[in-house]
Amino acid sequence: MPYQKAELEKWDKEYVWHPFTQMKAYRQSNPLIIERGEGSYLYDVEGNKYLDGYASLWVNVHGHNDPELNTALHIQVEKLAHSTLLGSANVPSILLAKKLAEITPDSLSKVFYSDTGSAAVEIALKIAYQYWQNLDSVKYKNKSKFISLNEAYHGDTIGAVSVGGMDLFHRIFKPLLFERIPTPSPYTYRMEGFETEEQASAYCIHQLEKLLQNKGEEVAGLIIEPLVQGAAGIITHPPGFLKQVERLCKAYGVLLICDEVAVGFGRTGTLFACEQEDVVPDIMCVGKGITGGYMPLAATLTTEQIFNAFLAHPDENKTFFHGHTYTGNQLACAVALRNIELIEERELIRSVKEKAKVFKRYLLKLYELPNVGDIRQRGLMAGIEVVKDRQTKSVFEDKKVMGDIILAARQKGLIIRELGPVVTMMPILSMTDEELKRMVEIVYESIKEVIARYKVS
Ligand code: PMP
Repeated sequence: MPYQKAELEKWDKEYVWHPFTQMKAYRQSNPLIIERGEGSYLYDVEGNKYLDGYASLWVNVHGHNDPELNTALHIQVEKLAHSTLLGSANVPSILLAKKLAEITPDSLSKVFYSDTGSAAVEIALKIAYQYWQNLDSVKYKNKSKFISLNEAYHGDTIGAVSVGGMDLFHRIFKPLLFERIPTPSPYTYRMEGFETEEQASAYCIHQLEKLLQNKGEEVAGLIIEPLVQGAAGIITHPPGFLKQVERLCKAYGVLLICDEVAVGFGRTGTLFACEQEDVVPDIMCVGKGITGGYMPLAATLTTEQIFNAFLAHPDENKTFFHGHTYTGNQLACAVALRNIELIEERELIRSVKEKAKVFKRYLLKLYELPNVGDIRQRGLMAGIEVVKDRQTKSVFEDKKVMGDIILAARQKGLIIRELGPVVTMMPILSMTDEELKRMVEIVYESIKEVIARYKVS
């Protein structure tokens, strides 16, 4: 490498503003500078090896430096890197759209491309709103509001933040946002007075129904992370919850938007999470795993019915006026298409399902640690809620505890992240049983070691 590590560290601290990061603390730390990856591992500039337990922010499907994905990218880059979808089409974006329509639930058949999950959500919200406006009947003109769950996370752009429910991230921007209608999330572990997840779920559904009875006529859509609220700390929804949400949306004439950005492409053990509840949303957002982590790409899919409401004479002003420069980028679409073909060829979904059972067995061992309050898992995503006291479920006031656990794991060769009091594991979907086991062992050792340190001090 032509640069010294110290030099890179200095420039990183001087020039790069990192996401979701308190830069004062970051600049006092020793940054981890990653240089290359191979399979389940990342390597830093000194050649140290780390198990990638975060799948490079939940995007990695087949492992780093996959020869097949590399080839797909090389083939495309030698043809063309980009042209625009504004007034023209391109081969990879056509083939990928066709593929997406084939693999997503039933009636989703129209694909609008973008480049981040947040943009896919913005597009979903705008399409949902304009859909009702485009219908000729005046009775739908009031449909301008959106319902989302408490602790929801749908991205960081203004519309996505508007439907977000995470105080820590979203409170400061309140004056800039449109109003959302919140509804309770079945976060059973933190809900007082409910003994089972079924009871917690029934309560949330009841509250949602009351809301829809009162306000349904003003609501354009309900947006939900199906099965798991990822960023809120892997809040796993009880079985049947999503199906009930779908039922209510249909009954009260509200579009159901499933944000599959985090859970799509195999993460929960099915290609898309909503399949597990046999739910077909009106609009679906995908991103992250769509290219296996190679290129920024996202998409918003809708039904024929929604799409048809935008078909009109230009003078009627029913066009969807939205588009980004990199919409339908050829490199991204080509690698996404190959990624999906490989998911099929390698029978990845079947193997994720099997690995999820093994992963669960390893995870349950973490309950041996008295400070592990709750273990939540769906497929190959897991959250370990760390508490000061298992009885009261109180969390450590000192936020450094969680950061220290992540640092201890890094020192033992594992990259993971915390979300509030939750240690989150998001392994690469192609990881072996042995690697999953090692990951959980490191988490075990790291929690034990750090908590012991805090108890003494
Ligand atoms: N929706 C969900 C459910 C997400 O988890 C995320 C990102 N973690 C997003 C949307 C936003 O995606 P991006 O970071 O690509 O904008």
